[in-house]
Amino acid sequence: MRGVIMYAPGDVRVEDREHPTILEPTDAIIRVSASCICGSDLWPYRGAEPVDHNPMGHEYVGVVTEIGHDVETVKVGDFVVGSFFASDNTCEICQAGYQSRCVHAELMGTIGTQAEFARIPLADGTLVATPGQPDADLIPSLLAASDVLGTGWFAAVAAEAGPGKTVAVVGDGAVGLLGILAARELGAERIIAMSRHADRQALAREFGATDIVEERGEEGVERIKELTDGMGAHSVIEAVGTQESMMQAIRATRPGGHVGYVGVSHDVSLDGLELFFSGIHLHGGPAPVRRFLPELIQLIWDRKIDPGQVFDLTLPLEDAAEGYKAMDERRATKVLLTL
Ligand SMILES: [Zn+2]
Repeated sequence: MRGVIMYAPGDVRVEDREHPTILEPTDAIIRVSASCICGSDLWPYRGAEPVDHNPMGHEYVGVVTEIGHDVETVKVGDFVVGSFFASDNTCEICQAGYQSRCVHAELMGTIGTQAEFARIPLADGTLVATPGQPDADLIPSLLAASDVLGTGWFAAVAAEAGPGKTVAVVGDGAVGLLGILAARELGAERIIAMSRHADRQALAREFGATDIVEERGEEGVERIKELTDGMGAHSVIEAVGTQESMMQAIRATRPGGHVGYVGVSHDVSLDGLELFFSGIHLHGGPAPVRRFLPELIQLIWDRKIDPGQVFDLTLPLEDAAEGYKAMDERRATKVLLTL
């Protein structure tokens, strides 16, 4: 089968990989219908994380082709969505809603779903079958649920977005944009998108943003305060993962407010005294996408939300290298790979 391998930073190739097989009785094999390139795949691409001939990809939707003896909740032929962490969905951590930290969690990125087939560990806990075979136009949205929608949704929940709340969103990548959509669905009154790109501002407005702030850093914080009677937002979504974005999120939050942080942290350090006097709640980490999958799949199936709009470039798997390049150069927000 064909699959993406990152040889080294900036060096992405599509080549023949071994066809996956059932290794554990709890495994399933899926034929991947669509995969995509994640903002987090850019960290190794840019040399910010080590990479050496790694299989790539952790977002996926597809059709089950084979199941292990112990798999009960999905069957061959089901169309399924899973998250970027395999999880048993039964341990105490999973039951509390934190499946990405399951005691048996396995990172799908090490398996690499930018490929024709993929082995899914802990299939019963990881995969959620759709109500039937989806229409082709639903596939991008279902794929978005696998990571960026689920992550944006968790960020909005962690930030306690809801009725009467003003929500500010730091980061206008796919996760930030879908955090806006989530905040709207959760009933937020006002949603401030922090973005300086016209095309992303337009999508932010379509997803529910009521205000746009183009300033960043301290100026961005000041603008949020001006828009909130000097107090700051009730809820702030942090969807970048840098020192600047994290401080922008913390400082834009009013005392007693909540930050939902889902940008993978790179070289962020927090000043204890500033955090102490901020009086805010910090809640985040790798999103437990599995918690939200049944609800998100239903919203997509009923065509109540259209998160697939974040994909602004679609390429065949064979052209994955061009997809990485386009995202690295910010010519594309999110690249869908067709199979
Ligand atoms: Zn678990």
